[in-house]
Amino acid sequence: MLQTIAAFDRIGEENAFAVLARATQLAAQGRDIINLGIGQPDFRTPEHIVEAAIKALHDGHHGYTPATGILPLREAVAADLQKRFGARVSPDEVMIMPGGKPTMFMSILMFGEPGAEIMYPDPGFPIYRSMIEYTGATPVPVPIREENNFAFSAEETLKLITPRTRLLILNSPANPTGGVTPKTEVDKLVAGLERHPDVAIMSDEIYDHMLYDGETHVCLLTYPSIRDRVILLNGWSKTYAMTGWRLGYAVWPGRLYDYARKLAVNLHSCVNASAQFAGLAALTGPQDAVAKMVAEFDRRRKVVVEGLNKLPGVSCKMPKGAFYAFPNVKRTGWKAKTLASSLLEDAGVAVIGGPDFGILGEGYMRLSYANSTENILRALERMGDFLASRKAA
Ligand code: PLP
Repeated sequence: MLQTIAAFDRIGEENAFAVLARATQLAAQGRDIINLGIGQPDFRTPEHIVEAAIKALHDGHHGYTPATGILPLREAVAADLQKRFGARVSPDEVMIMPGGKPTMFMSILMFGEPGAEIMYPDPGFPIYRSMIEYTGATPVPVPIREENNFAFSAEETLKLITPRTRLLILNSPANPTGGVTPKTEVDKLVAGLERHPDVAIMSDEIYDHMLYDGETHVCLLTYPSIRDRVILLNGWSKTYAMTGWRLGYAVWPGRLYDYARKLAVNLHSCVNASAQFAGLAALTGPQDAVAKMVAEFDRRRKVVVEGLNKLPGVSCKMPKGAFYAFPNVKRTGWKAKTLASSLLEDAGVAVIGGPDFGILGEGYMRLSYANSTENILRALERMGDFLASRKAA
């Protein structure tokens, strides 16, 4: 019992949800809040996807599905990975999950225990570290550096591997930095990983459609030499603006698939049936809504970065993926979290302080540009006024 309590005390949080709650509270009090905090597209789910879910309900898909997901959807995921990246995936390796997060939960649970080391990006999605700590494993941060355009460095990553390393978590395009690790660097990393056959890799590719400036996505499943130890995390949340549907998928190596299936049976039984039909329509239907959304994010990306670079003490690299900007605010004199909370309380702009994504996040803030250009411009103006008129606290 005591051990359980101790483990639960180690679980962390995603502060973006706390910021969202505070922003909503302030808005309810009548304040005009511009939310650049939460990481979800500000678009509606495309209509044909919504219709597919409604049809599934009318057609009577009201019961449990297999724990691993309906076969047509698993087939569609495999076909999509083959079509987009040339990855050879069997539908029997695909598991439909209630969102992207549960794949990180399950894979960290499978590899984490006291004495084990799990490597994760810092700054990075906060749930990685939270779950590693929960299992009692040692979290080993992999530094993600601005001077490296927020890409993974193969050399630095490989140096951190020890005989205790069980799992390496990768994320590109990345939250919170928008960084994209180039193929040359992934190639180097994979070549190095061939010398460490006992290290599994969990590749979080949830932003794989959101790439700019002609970048192409590198799917870790396409490397035969490590294929049998790659877990792919992906899903519909970001690509199809479906964060509230709770629909994701994993590709598990053979030996892990059955563990994941058992965890699913113990945890959620199966994913909401009508959402799975919606996911099927998303993958097999027209993709123009995705292209439109990405083009719109691309336009806003330029607006937000240009505006940030004009603010006193702020500099911002052009992100190559996802829908986040990660400006450096060190020269403002503010601590990043103090600045973020003051911007919300005093200027009505919700952003997330970099330290919420790891120790190396100090001196940075995350802005999600999943908001209208008009709101982004208003937020930038407010931030400019705030920085010009307020002394660092
Ligand atoms: N992975 C990364 C890097 C994310 O940024 C997010 C969501 O913000 C997720 C996974 C979780 O996605 P989902 O909402 O599908 O659980």
